[in-house]
Amino acid sequence: MTLVLRETHPETTVVRVAEVPIGGPALAIMAGPCAVESEEQVVATARAVKAAGANILRGGAFKPRTSPYAFEGLREEGLRLLAIARAETGLPIVTELLDPRHIDIVGAVADIFQIGSRNMQNFTLLDEVGRARKPVLLKRGMSATLEELLLAAERVAAHGNSEIALCERGIRTFETATRNTLDLNAVPYLKRRSHLPVIVDPSHGTGHWWMVPHLARAAVAAGCDGLLIEVHIDPAHAMSDGFQSLTPESFSRMMTDVRAIAAAVGRQA
Ligand code: PEP
Ligand code: MN
Repeated sequence: MTLVLRETHPETTVVRVAEVPIGGPALAIMAGPCAVESEEQVVATARAVKAAGANILRGGAFKPRTSPYAFEGLREEGLRLLAIARAETGLPIVTELLDPRHIDIVGAVADIFQIGSRNMQNFTLLDEVGRARKPVLLKRGMSATLEELLLAAERVAAHGNSEIALCERGIRTFETATRNTLDLNAVPYLKRRSHLPVIVDPSHGTGHWWMVPHLARAAVAAGCDGLLIEVHIDPAHAMSDGFQSLTPESFSRMMTDVRAIAAAVGRQA
């Protein structure tokens, strides 16, 4: 491993997502629904998170689901709705790429590709985004070590694409009270070992909406470069991950606190 290590590249990499820098003094705040469900839902959420201070819109069009009976996203229609939300708000888009065969259609809408936890070791997919000329948000596999996450990033970089942001989203442990155990050790560790920016996802990391603001504040205090937060206009009726989604109002309150913590550690939000 060389390309992603700080010893070979002492300066922190600033990944540019459209106009939004990830890794500079300002935090990248990616917020939006787990899944795109309708034009009204994604546009209303996009407007609300932008007003509260988000600078990138998240939303899944292709959803990775283990159960073949679960909602798999609106797929191409979801991409079309994300493009509308982008046009309405100007927010760049992060959305998951599940399949290398979709790289062109997802790439036509995504400003940064999300590689999900379940695909951190999908080497075909990593090689494909490595050849792409677009940034990548690489989520940690739910049972992957930090070195394995860095090796997956190295694989993307080795294929020519160094525009990578790493994402800690919680790991599987013996603990069942929370969906995952958010490993905030990852933040200082990855920041010291690698020059790549680090994003924290306390939504999947906890699985409980009421825990999300606490862990978001902790992540910013620990020195992350940004947050990935699930926000839904009506979490009780969300088609996926409603139990860990903030309402626009609670997201806005979270952002007020995040701004104060960011200022305390020399960052802006
Ligand atoms: C998501 O961001 O909605 C998602 C599926 O995340 P993960 O890959 O971390 O489970
Ligand atoms: Mn989700």
